[in-house]
Amino acid sequence: MSLPNLRKPSFVLISGILLSVAFTAISLISYYVANQSLNQHITTNTLPLTSDTIYSEVQRDLLQPVLVSSLMAQDTFVHDWIEGGEQNPEQMPRYLKAIQERYNAFTAFFVSEYTHNYYHSTGILKQVSDSRPADRWYFDSRRTPEEFDINLDLDTANTSITTLFVNHKVRDQQGKLLGIIGVGLASTTIKELIETYQNRYGRQVYFIDPQGKVTMQGSQFSALDIHKVKGLQDIAADILSSSEGSYTYTNDNKTYLIKTRYIPELSWYLIVQHTEQSEARITTTLWINLTISLLVIIAVLLLQHFTLGGYQRRLEYMANTDPLTGASSRHAFEMTFQQIINFARRQKHPVSTMLVDIDHFKTFNDNYGHLLGDTILTKVAKILTKNLRQADTLCRWGGDEFFIVLPNCHQEDARLIAENMRQEIEASLNIIDDKQLHVTASFGVAEYNNNETTISLFNRTDLALYRAKSNNRNQVEIATELSFKTV
Ligand code: GH3
Ligand code: MG
Repeated sequence: MSLPNLRKPSFVLISGILLSVAFTAISLISYYVANQSLNQHITTNTLPLTSDTIYSEVQRDLLQPVLVSSLMAQDTFVHDWIEGGEQNPEQMPRYLKAIQERYNAFTAFFVSEYTHNYYHSTGILKQVSDSRPADRWYFDSRRTPEEFDINLDLDTANTSITTLFVNHKVRDQQGKLLGIIGVGLASTTIKELIETYQNRYGRQVYFIDPQGKVTMQGSQFSALDIHKVKGLQDIAADILSSSEGSYTYTNDNKTYLIKTRYIPELSWYLIVQHTEQSEARITTTLWINLTISLLVIIAVLLLQHFTLGGYQRRLEYMANTDPLTGASSRHAFEMTFQQIINFARRQKHPVSTMLVDIDHFKTFNDNYGHLLGDTILTKVAKILTKNLRQADTLCRWGGDEFFIVLPNCHQEDARLIAENMRQEIEASLNIIDDKQLHVTASFGVAEYNNNETTISLFNRTDLALYRAKSNNRNQVEIATELSFKTV
C-alpha cells in the first residue's frame, strides 16, 4: 500500500520539470542578455569604429586616384602642352607613363577636347567619337557640372579588365574645357582592397551609388541593388537620404547591423555590415550551463528518489505495521483482506479466517505489569507468524486479539494450524522474565462461503472464538455453517 499524499514518482517528476524549466530559463535568459549586450556593443562601439577606420583606409586607397587626377588636371606641363597645340605628341604618353608608375595606377589617360586624341602611357590609342558606345563616357563626362566623375568601365588599352576611372576636367584660365585627364584603378585591385578590409575587420564592406546600385563589393556580399535585397530594401530610402547612419535589417532569419557613410569624393556610400550571430564563446557558455544544469537536475532527482524512497518505505511500514508485534495494522489489513476475498470469490478458491485471543490476558497485565503483557503479546505474535505460510496475513485486531486470513486454505487445514499454534503457545510460554506463567489462547476458525459478506465471515469467526472462550478457553472452535443469506 502507498500513502496517498506522498506519490513519489509524480513528486520527482514535478521537481524534475520545475528544475528543468528554471535552469533552462536562467540559462537562456543569460544567453539572450549576453548576446544582446554584445550586439549592443557592436552597434554602438565596434561597428562605428570599424566603419571610421575603413573609411580612412578607403580615403587613403580609393581617393588617391582622385587626388592624382586633380593634380594632373592642374599640372602646368599638361596646360602648356595642350595650349601649345599638342606639339610633340610623344610627350604626353611619357608624362602619363611617369604618373602611372609613380602612383602605381593601373592606367593613366588624357583625351583632348581639340583633337579627340586618346592618349595613353603607350601612345595615342585612338580618337574618341560620339557615335562609338565605348567612347560615350567622354561625352557624358564633359557634360557633367562636377570637375570630376568616377566611371566603371572597360579599359581601352586592356578591354578585359573593368577599371575604375577618375575622369578629371582640364580647363584653361578662362574655364574652357581642354580635355579630360585621369588615372584608373583595376577593379580587381579594388576588390582586393575590399577583401583586405573585410578580413582585417571581420565585416562585410560594399559601396553603393546614390541610386542604391552596388558599385563595389567583396566576395562576402553579392547584390546588384540594395532595393533588391530583402530587409535592406525597406531601409534603402533612409540610407540614401542621409550622409551617415546606423541601421538594422533582417534577411533569412539573420539580423544585420549596418553603418553607412557617404563619401562625397566618390559620390558613393560606404556600407560596413555586421551579421548578428551568437558569439561562439557565448554559445559554448550556454551549452556548459545547460550541461551543468542537467547534471545537477539528475543528481537532485536521484537524491530525491532515494531519500524519498527510504522515507516512504519507513512511513508505509509505520502506517501498515503494528509496532509492538510486527503484525499488519488493522487499517492496512482491511484492504488486503477485501482483496483476498474478492480474488477468492472470482477464482472460487477457499479462504479461511482465524481469530485468536489470549486467555485472561488482563490478569497478566494486572499481576505483572504492562511490560510483561507486551512481552506476552510479542511472543504470541511470533508463534502465530511461525505457523503461517507466506501468503497468510496476521493482523493485530486490537488489544490481545489477532485476526488471520489464510488464502487457499480449507477450514480443516486452518483448524490444524490453529491447533498447532494453541499447543505451541501453551507449551512454550511458561516462563517469561523468570515468572512462572500459564499463557494460553482461544481460537475461532471459519471458511469463507462465496455467498456471504466479509462482515458475515468475520461474525462467524468471532462466534467461534466466543464459543471457545465459553468452553473454558484454550481451545480451537470451528464456525458454524452459513445458515442464512447475509449478503
Ligand atoms: P479473556 O480471556 O476473556 O479474553 O480475558 P481477557 O483478560 O483477555 O479480557 P480482555 O480481552 O477484555 O482483556 C484485554 C486486555 O488487554 C485489556 C487491556 O488492558 C489489555 N491490553 C490491550 N492492549 C494492550 C497492550 O498493548 N499491551 C498490554 N500490555 N496490554 C494490553
Ligand atoms: Mg483476552
